[in-house]
Amino acid sequence: MTEQTPIVIVGTGLAGYSLAREIRKQDKDVRIVMVTADDGVSYSKPMLSTGFSKGKDADGLAQAATAAMAEQLDLELRTFTTVTGIDTNGHRLLLGDGSLTYSKLVLAWGADVIRLTIPGDGQERVFPINDLEDYRVFRKALKPGGRVAIMGAGLIGCEFANDLRNGGYEVDVIAPSDAVMPSLLPPVAANAVQQELEALGVRFHLETVVERIEPAEAGVKLFLANGESLPADIVISAVGLRPRTQLARAAGIEVGRGVTVNRLLETSAKDVYALGDCAEVDGHVLLYVLPLMACARALAKTLTGEPTEVTYGTMPVMIKTPCCPAAVCPPPSDAQGSWETEQDGTHVKSLFKNPEGDVLGFAVTGRFALEKQALSKVVPPIHS
Ligand code: FAD
Repeated sequence: MTEQTPIVIVGTGLAGYSLAREIRKQDKDVRIVMVTADDGVSYSKPMLSTGFSKGKDADGLAQAATAAMAEQLDLELRTFTTVTGIDTNGHRLLLGDGSLTYSKLVLAWGADVIRLTIPGDGQERVFPINDLEDYRVFRKALKPGGRVAIMGAGLIGCEFANDLRNGGYEVDVIAPSDAVMPSLLPPVAANAVQQELEALGVRFHLETVVERIEPAEAGVKLFLANGESLPADIVISAVGLRPRTQLARAAGIEVGRGVTVNRLLETSAKDVYALGDCAEVDGHVLLYVLPLMACARALAKTLTGEPTEVTYGTMPVMIKTPCCPAAVCPPPSDAQGSWETEQDGTHVKSLFKNPEGDVLGFAVTGRFALEKQALSKVVPPIHS
């Protein structure tokens, strides 16, 4: 008897494992092979920026070992196996010297961290953190009570700043924007989060960039464009992520800001699908958990014989800055309207309203963050 050609999933992050779990709810028998460049350990990536607050190191943040995942999901897991190409005509995944034939292929291979090329000899003290292994390396390099510089004041930079202060570290955040999380929060809400982080002891150096990083006695010295210089033991680079598209493009699969897929999560190549941080779904690039969970549920049905389009509801983003809890549901980028704000110190409720008065987005901080659930029901879903 010949073995069934498997569904192959590339990537064992939240997207890959969520999809495998959802497939198993639909079909206990279909053969699944998962391929991953890493060790396949299951973990929740959002927890990486809560390690100190929760008293957990990299091992503590791991949720399930690879063998346990393979057993639980009844599938074959190939770890430390990097995909090097896709032969879409031959339905073959290229793995260096080897290959693997697929019936359906799912790309869940995530996003790359953007790496800045900064002059100076201090690069080995610069750590991007986008997976559990990055976090392990970072924690190993960190001395208790040391001084950390964070490049980037986006969601990830701010969350790490709060968490490191909770862990007793000195924290400097450097970013070119004039506010924190400029692409996510309206200015009033951003100022509230910044103020509370400052009250916690985080030092912000905004509207400037790191021009040079040189080795120094205790670690490195950062030279900023505004003329300041800062000592640090270690530097976190949190300047953004870029969906991985190179291998798809090389295989002739259509890519835009991510691997382009429709609401059935189909790429332009037959029997090849994508979800998670690597995918641009129906024009949306949303590098968050809620969208990938919605995609996993829909795609599992499609792959097991019931074609199902993904439906994005409202997608609020929770910002894990415990000193100033915040949530945001950004309005559509082309929405007409303006922000209306109610404010009590760093407790902010900003509603984005169109000229007709409909609420199209919101940002809440402090005690108003408790209203996020109720507000999510008012904002129209992404897909109606
Ligand atoms: P990944 O987890 O990156 O998985 C990619 C997988 O593909 C890995 O297994 C990798 O080894 C594999 N891979 C890559 N290339 C290859 C290759 N060539 N061959 C084989 N395997 C390959 N989102 C929220 O919604 N809320 C939050 O609070 C939140 N907080 C966050 C905090 C931090 C610090 C970070 C970094 C992210 C946060 N996010 C949050 C975003 C969220 O975690 C991600 O959107 C999500 O985890 C992405 O999952 P993924 O499976 O698509 O990608």
